[in-house]
Amino acid sequence: MANEKPAVRTPATPDRPRRRDIVITALLGLLVLLVLLVGGVLAPGAWLAASLAFSALAFVYFLTAVTRVSPRSAVQMSRPVHASELESADVMLEKIAVPVLLIGPGGRIERANPAARAFLALGAEGGLLSNSLRQPRVLEAVSAALRGERGAVVEYASLAPIESHVRAFVEPLRMPVAGPMPWRAMLVLADETSSKRAERMRADFLANASHELRTPLASLSGFIDTLRGPARDDEAARDRFLSIMREQTDRMRRLIDDLLSLSRVEMNEHLPPSGEADLGAIARDVVDSLRPMADARAITLELSLPDEPARITGDRDQVYEVVENLVENAIKYSPEGAVVAIEALDNCARDVAEHAPERLAPQSARLLLAGPPFDPRQRYGVLRVRDHGAGIDRRYLPRLSERFYRVDGQKSGPTAGTGLGLAIVKHIITRHRGGFSVESAPDTGSTFSVFLPKPAEGSKAASPAQPVAAASAPEAEAE
Ligand code: ADP
Repeated sequence: MANEKPAVRTPATPDRPRRRDIVITALLGLLVLLVLLVGGVLAPGAWLAASLAFSALAFVYFLTAVTRVSPRSAVQMSRPVHASELESADVMLEKIAVPVLLIGPGGRIERANPAARAFLALGAEGGLLSNSLRQPRVLEAVSAALRGERGAVVEYASLAPIESHVRAFVEPLRMPVAGPMPWRAMLVLADETSSKRAERMRADFLANASHELRTPLASLSGFIDTLRGPARDDEAARDRFLSIMREQTDRMRRLIDDLLSLSRVEMNEHLPPSGEADLGAIARDVVDSLRPMADARAITLELSLPDEPARITGDRDQVYEVVENLVENAIKYSPEGAVVAIEALDNCARDVAEHAPERLAPQSARLLLAGPPFDPRQRYGVLRVRDHGAGIDRRYLPRLSERFYRVDGQKSGPTAGTGLGLAIVKHIITRHRGGFSVESAPDTGSTFSVFLPKPAEGSKAASPAQPVAAASAPEAEAE
């Protein structure tokens, strides 16, 4: 089946009456009228019979003209679709963002459009569907379609590596090919992850936001009561309480901003970004914008950048948010007068990208909080943020990227954290198919690293829909 294009026959549809048929019918009708007029005058009996016969003839002719199939359409019905027509179908499939596959005997992928290739991470050879899609109910529906049974719609969810919800449409297609297996299965995969996530996140958002907002709100209403009652005439107390109220409202605003940011990121997490950004330039912009915050605590920000732009595949605004969160944390959790080092690296292999080659301290703990599947050819742009703060005990490291998690007893300078910053970082990095790691040693400090895939050298748009070469894997896995 390698490059063989299956022939497709167009369905039979009766032609519409052509203009010639209508003219002939109209002429016959006129003849009937004429016969009736003349016959009525000359010989009523014989002419009436003749006119009835003509009317019947006209009626039958018109009926056959309406319902018959013309010789041209009969040829269309039986001839296989020309190769160029099939190619134009390929051109359309190539542009469609919905994954579409044609599965042949034995569950082999015969054709797959670029969306399907990307969605199922298919290699050059499609191989067996069961190797790329481990969903027994979908495979069963495909097997049924390959036996010529009815099509089916199957919903499935997968949780790893990224949660996704898909509705699979399976339809049998009969091909005019010789042999005992004329059936193919057309498989269309509709990604419904965004809508499912939206549903769940709406519920989560309400639960988390109301829980986290309750504390500052309770404190605000307490201060309002105090100011209206016992502290009504106490000017010093009023000023102190108003400044605490200000902090609480700032905290509520930060919480809402972070929750919204997190929900935005989670919505699109399963769709990798397609843009490009320069990690070094982003680091420079973040350092410039956070310098006033660092200066307020006499913290020195040291920036080290590669000579060339560190190009990565990514959404600039989201990568900015990642770097900003990490540098902000480093400033928040460092003592006054400390140094925070921010380093961008280009073109790193995965092992160098994950952690710096030298350890922070002999006893430091290292953990990968998020990472893409291993690909030895992939190179990465890396950003590391090293602080000299209190560090984090190894037992807390796995919980760092949980929503609302804060390490007990951690001092965070004047601004209280929301516990959402590292969750946002993790989700953005996961969306970018990058990695996120931490190394920390109590009393020494922490290094947070993120690595983002570099665009492929000479990268170009996805290849067009092509027939997939048959793999040499054993037959009949999906059947
Ligand atoms: P927050 O808004 O509380 O900083 P994050 O999600 O950014 O939320 O961080 C989660 C927790 O991880 C923080 O509350 C803090 O306890 C700990 N943490 C994050 N960054 C650092 C750091 N650089 N040094 C020490 N602890 C950190």
